[in-house]
Amino acid sequence: MVPPQTSPRAKQRRGEGQWALGYREPLNPNERSKKDDNPLNVRARIENIYAHGGFDSIDPADLRGRFRWYGLYTQRKPGIDGGRTATLEPEELDDEYFMMRVRSDGGALTTQQLRVLGEISQTYGRDTADITDRQNIQYHWIQIEDVPTIWQKLEAVGLTTMEACGDSPRVILGSPVAGIAEDEVLNGQPAIDTILERYIGDPRFSNLPRKFKTAISGLQDVAHEIHDVAFVGVDHPEHGPGFDLWVGGGLSTNPMLGKRLGAWVPLDEVPDVWEAVISVFRDYGYRRLRHRARIKFLVADWGPEKFRQVVEDEYLKRKMLDGPAPEVLSQQLDHIGVNRQKDGLFYVGAAPVAGRVSGSILVEVAKIAERAGSQRVRFTPQQKIIVLDVPETAVGTLKSDLAKLGLQVDPSPWRRGIMACTGIEFCKLAIVETKARANELVTTLEANLKDIVDGVTAPITVHINGCPNSCARIQTADIGLKGQIVTDDEGNQVEGFQVHLGGGLGLDAGFGRKLRGHKVTAAELPAYVERVVRNFVAQREDDER
Ligand code: SF4
Repeated sequence: MVPPQTSPRAKQRRGEGQWALGYREPLNPNERSKKDDNPLNVRARIENIYAHGGFDSIDPADLRGRFRWYGLYTQRKPGIDGGRTATLEPEELDDEYFMMRVRSDGGALTTQQLRVLGEISQTYGRDTADITDRQNIQYHWIQIEDVPTIWQKLEAVGLTTMEACGDSPRVILGSPVAGIAEDEVLNGQPAIDTILERYIGDPRFSNLPRKFKTAISGLQDVAHEIHDVAFVGVDHPEHGPGFDLWVGGGLSTNPMLGKRLGAWVPLDEVPDVWEAVISVFRDYGYRRLRHRARIKFLVADWGPEKFRQVVEDEYLKRKMLDGPAPEVLSQQLDHIGVNRQKDGLFYVGAAPVAGRVSGSILVEVAKIAERAGSQRVRFTPQQKIIVLDVPETAVGTLKSDLAKLGLQVDPSPWRRGIMACTGIEFCKLAIVETKARANELVTTLEANLKDIVDGVTAPITVHINGCPNSCARIQTADIGLKGQIVTDDEGNQVEGFQVHLGGGLGLDAGFGRKLRGHKVTAAELPAYVERVVRNFVAQREDDER
């Protein structure tokens, strides 16, 4: 194919770097790095070279690029304040320790896997473990010398870090109660399992324009509106249970809600349709500018009709069936508390604060879950943990055992609704502290808002980000807090937050409003949230969210 040279349209296409239009030459250093060497090849170098040679032996192109394909990022050097984040070179921010993410697609784990995750943290990660809102575990303080052994231990129980990060198909969100929820349209886990088996680690999909996030659920419990591709359970009037297909959602600095393609996909066709959508992204996605490289920009430019047509005509080679939209729920499901399964057993959802646990807690949860007769646990997209398959007679003991670990099954609304990203403790992009602040906020609100807790009949979510990225989904929270340096009353530059108010998913899905100049310092945060909540509870109308 001869690339068009002259028209403005041709210039725009060439500028976007879309492979399908013939533009294969890398247009930025990230694209160059991926073209120079398939990032999946870095595993052999870690095993054969870097684990023996130590941190200083690592090629910078692997360190700050290809390592991500195995869930590895350098963590932030301790003691660098947020005001300097943007001014330092990457190597000045790099510590010699790593953050590591382990895939657990759908958050699905056996108690044996949970125990191994905990033990690895105890041995190699200074007992750190955070449950992320991608339903997986993130460790810190990992040393390169230990990475091959950690992989061996993970793989012995069927776990992997492959494509946990990077421009690849990341961990797939799935309903934590797939297959057991009384009200699910259908169980999406078999589709997740097939996608993992067929495509994760497949070099055809290991060089995408950017990350690719998938959600598949027979319930509306996985924030489907903000995923690159999502399959949402819906009953078709003629064909029965299946999935409604969404594409092009995402947050970060240009938030967009996903678009329905109006197509109904039966369970056994989900992997093929997923392959078609990710192929469109790989081939037509914009590769010139990193900040325009997510699929949402392509979907926004094309519109859902054209996107569906390209999926069908060029990749699936057939038409998909039209289907109805799922009924919109008035609130996100978080599965906290004690809930009956369709087989008569119970699942018990508990709330750590903002996903912070530890290796020791994970080992203990595995133990007490087994004592309660369970062999399955789940992480949720809200950074919570669920024990499945509990007989009714064991529920009471399990609840008190979880509470002793700081995992409350009947949490306050604040503990239940809080999420926080990694923040300045470990993240090189962070400007402010998040996890400790979330804990402090929950403790203060629990102490100060006892008098109105009965009036909080709708959940109030507070999400805290350490920078303008949106790892903790701030735009979809009732109160979203974006970390930045702000000026306090004395004129000092201090840690604080830009406030976004009134975001949400499901009914009236939309992004929180960013009010001009509406910023709080970190020190003022508990009092600010308390005021907002008190005013909301006092003034809300029936069912108002
Ligand atoms: Fe790091 Fe920013 Fe993401 Fe928080 S939101 S984890 S600070 S990149």
